[in-house]
Amino acid sequence: MEERWNDWKWQFANRITTVEQLRAALPLSRKEQADIETCLGAFRMAITPYYASLIDPNDPHDPVRMQAVPSILETRPDANDLADPLGEVEDSPVPHIVHRYPDRVLLLVTMQCSMYCRHCTRRRAVGEEDRAITEAALQKAVSYIRAHTDIRDVLISGGDPLTMGTPQLEHIISALRAIDHVEIIRIGTRVPVVMPMRITAELTDMLRKYHPIWINTHFNHPRELTPEAARACAAIVDAGIPLGNQTVLLKGINDNAETMKRLLLGLVKMRVRPYYLYQCDLSCGIGHFRTRVETGIEIMHQLTGNISGYALPKYVIDAPGGGGKIPVGYDYVLKKDDREVVLENYKGIAYRYPQPKD
Ligand SMILES: *Cc1c(COP(=O)(O)O)cnc(C)c1O
Ligand code: SF4
Repeated sequence: MEERWNDWKWQFANRITTVEQLRAALPLSRKEQADIETCLGAFRMAITPYYASLIDPNDPHDPVRMQAVPSILETRPDANDLADPLGEVEDSPVPHIVHRYPDRVLLLVTMQCSMYCRHCTRRRAVGEEDRAITEAALQKAVSYIRAHTDIRDVLISGGDPLTMGTPQLEHIISALRAIDHVEIIRIGTRVPVVMPMRITAELTDMLRKYHPIWINTHFNHPRELTPEAARACAAIVDAGIPLGNQTVLLKGINDNAETMKRLLLGLVKMRVRPYYLYQCDLSCGIGHFRTRVETGIEIMHQLTGNISGYALPKYVIDAPGGGGKIPVGYDYVLKKDDREVVLENYKGIAYRYPQPKD
C-alpha cells in the first residue's frame, strides 16, 4: 500500500471523481450527495487520495475540504461573475499563448489538473478536456515565442503542467530553451500541494538541465504544509530551482491574519518564498469565496513589520478585463509635499523624512 501511495501515477489514477467515491472517504448526508451531483454538471471534481487524506471528515468547514469538495453555492450565479474574468481570450494571439505584458507570456500546455480547485480562475477551460497540447499547436506557440524577441520569460501553465509525464514536459521545455531570447522558464503548478509525490528525482534531474527554471506553487492554508509537501518543496529547491508561492485569499479558508501568518511563516521555513496574494477573481461560481478588498489590505497591514519581509507576498488584484495584476495595500504615506514626507510605521507611529531640494 505504502509503495502505491507514494507513486504519483497511482495517486492520479485513483483520484476521487464521483459522489460514490467521495462517500467512501467522507461522511456525506443525502442532501450533500445530491448537491455535489448537481455541481458536477458545471465543473468537475478530482481529489487525489493524498489531498483527501488531509481533510478532517468531521468538519464541514475544513479548509482542505472547502478547496476540493463542490458546494451548492457554486451553482448560484453572482451578479459580478464573468466567464473570462482576466480577459485571457482577448490577449491570446495564437492558441495556448496569453501575451499581456511586454516581456513575458503564459504558455498553457494542458487543461488537466491533479485536483480541481473549487476556486479556480480558469475554471471556464480547466478540466474540460484531459488532452495536452498537440504537437502542431505546440509548434505554433513556440514559433510565436521565437518570432517575438521581446519575450524573455515563458510561464508554462495550464491546468497543471506537472500532471504531464516527464518526457512530454521535457519536449516542451527543451523547445523553449532552444530560443535564444528566452531567459527564464517558469512553471506554475499545484502539484507540491495536492500530489507531492510527483516531485521525483526523475523530474528534478530533467528540470535542472534547463536552468534557469523557476517554479511557483499554490499553498492556501497551513494545513497543507505537510511533511510530504515539505519534502517535495525541498527537492525542488535542492535542484537549484527558486520556489515561489501564490495564495488566493479565500473567505472562510485563509481570510484572517492569524491563519495567513502561519501559512506564510511555514512556507518560508520550507524555503518557499511567498510571491503573490491574489484577491479572488470574478470567475463564475466562486462568489462565495470572495472577500472584500479591505480584508486583504487589513491582513497585509497587520502582518507587515511584524513578520519578515521574506514572508510577505504582494497583495494584488488581477484586474477584470485584462488589466493585469495591480498591487493594492495600506498607504503608509500620511502626507507628502515638496519639503517632507510623513510616514506611518507598522506600530502606527508617524515619522518625518525631509526631502532633498531639487
Ligand atoms: C501573472 C501573469 C504573468 C506573470 O506575471 P509576473 O508578475 O511576472 O509573475 C504573465 N502573463 C499573464 C497573462 C499573467 O496573468
Ligand atoms: S491547480 Fe490551478 S489550474 Fe488547476 S484547478 Fe487548481 S487553480 Fe485551477
